[in-house]
Amino acid sequence: MQYGGKQRLCYIPGLGGQPFKIVFRGGLAWIEALRLSKVPWLVHAFSTRQGGRSHSPCAGLNLGSSGWDRRELVELNRRRSLRQLDAADFVLASLRQIHSSHAYMLARDGAGQLCYQPSGVALTEQAPTSPPAGDGLLTAEAGILLTVRIADCLPVLLVDAHRRVVAAVHAGWRGALARVIEKAVGDMHRVFGSHPGQLMAALGPSIRACCYEVGEEVVEAFHGQFVRADQFFRTPPHRPEAATQRRSIPFLGAYPPGHAPQQGPAAHLDLVAVALDQLARAGVKLSNALIADYCTACRTDLFFSHRKEGERTGRQMAVVGIRPGKRGSPTNTNPQASPLGRGCPRYEGR
Ligand SMILES: [Zn+2]
Repeated sequence: MQYGGKQRLCYIPGLGGQPFKIVFRGGLAWIEALRLSKVPWLVHAFSTRQGGRSHSPCAGLNLGSSGWDRRELVELNRRRSLRQLDAADFVLASLRQIHSSHAYMLARDGAGQLCYQPSGVALTEQAPTSPPAGDGLLTAEAGILLTVRIADCLPVLLVDAHRRVVAAVHAGWRGALARVIEKAVGDMHRVFGSHPGQLMAALGPSIRACCYEVGEEVVEAFHGQFVRADQFFRTPPHRPEAATQRRSIPFLGAYPPGHAPQQGPAAHLDLVAVALDQLARAGVKLSNALIADYCTACRTDLFFSHRKEGERTGRQMAVVGIRPGKRGSPTNTNPQASPLGRGCPRYEGR
């Protein structure tokens, strides 16, 4: 296992099959999962910062409104990206990301307006039509592009190729702690009838264990929630004693008074390991978990990184959707695929 190198190829032994490709088109570059690229009705991508019109500190293809870029440039970047993805006609769905486990089902009403229906609650007339706060999006309706914005957090795209259902998840450490990935898989099963064993999960670029140093409060929070939490943390290579020390941190007098370490050693969180644990717990086959082996903090030539570059940086976008028309599914035959009925009928005419 190697850490910190610019060109790491595989940092999870046995999972380095490079199941992703970088697609260059129209001056832009994005990453696709090879297996998902073979699904004819699917559009999906993890953007890079290559191309784009934004300037420093968001130089490149900034697709998120971080406040450090001009709004018109972000919109221009988005339009160019959608055009190159052949998804210019899609309606974009996004959330105000808050590092939670809240997920929403997306559908359109009779006027084509997006409806955000909280998953897990009965349909109400209060379903918001503007982006609510949350970190998971699901849909079975063609023509809706689910998007999450990231600059270190882990984007996870879930695809049910059998029932034509897709989901996009934004998983930072707080969302992962709240089991946002596990819950999204559960929502796909409960709402759309997706069988977890048939789902494919694409884990996009994020900050990886090589660079993701976290505080003791994060370590303790995960140990309080996950029995396998020890497997979520990596020891930095230059401090091989750290793992032993970390798990020996004074607790109920483990050290004699005055002999405790002055400062806790660094722990590095492995978001991918957390995601894989949640996928497995939810019933997803790990052979169907596709991992893009890119660390955003190591590869700021390709990606924006909040940890590496600071708050004043841009955002990548991960997108997934069902293509309408001849390549897609004009009529979804899944009887459970439209929990909102035909769009949001209660909103028709409003
Ligand atoms: Zn790294």
